[in-house]
Amino acid sequence: MDKGRTCYFCHFWIGEGVRERGPHGQCRRYPPVVTARHPDGKFPRTAATDSCGEWQRMGQAPAGEDSGARS
Ligand code: SF4
Repeated sequence: MDKGRTCYFCHFWIGEGVRERGPHGQCRRYPPVVTARHPDGKFPRTAATDSCGEWQRMGQAPAGEDSGARS
């Protein structure tokens, strides 16, 4: 696995702590998940070193999606 393709470098990640850069944070790729423990919903918490197949480079619009800007 490419070591740069971790949550720390992902477009969707907001880290906790100093300057929001981890070592843990929230994945904002999808809406909050409702569980029995969190009935109001909660974003998944991940480690900066975690990764998944939805990874996108920081500062780039997700593949296949526009940036929301209209011309
Ligand atoms: S879990 Fe996946 S989509 Fe979420 S921040 Fe980490 S790499 Fe990105």
